[in-house]
Amino acid sequence: ASRFRLPHLTDIFPDATSIPSTFCLRMRTPVTGDFADGYPSDEKWHGYINNRDRVLLKTIHYSSPTSAGAVCIDPDCTWVEQWVHRAGPREEIYFKPEEVKAAIVTCGGLCPGLNDVIRQIVITLEIYGVTKIVGIPFGYRGFTDKELTEMPLSRKVVQNVHLSGGSLLGVSRGAPGISEIVDSMEERDINILFVLGGNGTHAGANAIHDECRRRKLKVAVVGVPKTIDNDILLMDKTFGFDTAVEEAQRAINSAYIEAHSAFHGIGVVKLMGRSSGFIAMHASLASGQIDICLIPEVPFHLHGPHGVLGHLKYLIETKGSAVICVAEGAGQNLVEQTNAKDASGNVVLGDIGVRIQQEIKKYFKEIGVPADVKYIDPTYMIRACRANATDGILCTVLGQNAVHGAFAGFSGITVGICNTHYVYFPIPEVISYPRAVDPNSRMWHRCLTSTGQPDFI
Ligand code: ATP
Ligand code: MG
Repeated sequence: ASRFRLPHLTDIFPDATSIPSTFCLRMRTPVTGDFADGYPSDEKWHGYINNRDRVLLKTIHYSSPTSAGAVCIDPDCTWVEQWVHRAGPREEIYFKPEEVKAAIVTCGGLCPGLNDVIRQIVITLEIYGVTKIVGIPFGYRGFTDKELTEMPLSRKVVQNVHLSGGSLLGVSRGAPGISEIVDSMEERDINILFVLGGNGTHAGANAIHDECRRRKLKVAVVGVPKTIDNDILLMDKTFGFDTAVEEAQRAINSAYIEAHSAFHGIGVVKLMGRSSGFIAMHASLASGQIDICLIPEVPFHLHGPHGVLGHLKYLIETKGSAVICVAEGAGQNLVEQTNAKDASGNVVLGDIGVRIQQEIKKYFKEIGVPADVKYIDPTYMIRACRANATDGILCTVLGQNAVHGAFAGFSGITVGICNTHYVYFPIPEVISYPRAVDPNSRMWHRCLTSTGQPDFI
């Protein structure tokens, strides 16, 4: 069985000693000082996670021994198990809480739940006994921009921040160099850094972790994956995704009502998903109002006998209206490529939603069939939402586990949920490429069954 190796600060400081955890799993009742539910005091620390506790990530069966790689259990060498470390509080911790200065930074785009994670990190740090907690404003930029000052954080400051969307700290794209960030961390005496962001942010976090090791700094860098697109490898799902799908349904429902109430109405809804169509697929499945779902992983034609437009004509003739859901990264071969990049170096995508809307109008005009086309892009309305109940809980657990991971002495790790259990991953394992919808998966075929759409190739 293979197991991901989690980088730990003892890798660079082998002689470091750990101290008993001060993290209290049971709340004392304020009146008596006893434990609320009457457990004997020797059980007061029950519930700690052992560093050897692990969760089965996957069992892979290989068709031949040669493709199985190095780590095998079976004598025929045809299957491999991968395990990941369980997240949670450790009985022994690496940092003395009074010596900790913790910082939180949020980068990239907005995602529902950012404030929930920030809040929970602060609350959990305080329970460990940390008093120096700061927020770095506007992403990595806040480390070096002299106009921006760090924000002191406490339970009082964050108490109600989860009631609104966005990020209390602000976000940004683009960044100063890694060594300037680490210089700034040294200046500020930061020894625990929590980084909330997507693939790009995690690449940055891993580089900061490497630079801290190179400089022999006792600094723990812990990520919390923030991607509304749900495109991080190995995780069941990431926070904000559930809220996004729920909110996307409102836009789809509006598009449906508009289309259904118009003569030959056609609604086009563009949803997030630069390289992964999870939101579009799940929103289509959830709403039941989508006739055509288009995602980046599945190529399609607009024109021709098997094109989207021909199918739309059929839908208009047979049911009078239609709704299309398209992920922003879908059909990029059909839109003009500008080669433009954003501040973080991400390619600026062409607008497939507008393109489809224009093509539909043109097509129906050409064939002499009236059509009433309406286009909805709810992206920013969805991203700015506050987290729903499911995401609120996920954010709470991830935030707590991020703090437990840092206190345990791990660095260069990120938190996630895997086969319903909460775990730690080494950052490079989850960001090597974006997770995508498998066009051969059951889920995509379920989506096709529910929309009734044919292959558009
Ligand atoms: P989103 O899901 O919103 O795209 P993201 O984390 O991928 O989130 P980016 O704008 O790509 O968002 O990156 C966020 C920050 O990480 C930026 O400040 C960017 O400069 C930095 N960054 C991106 N890629 C790298 C990298 N390979 N190495 C170091 N830093 C990076
Ligand atoms: Mg990104």
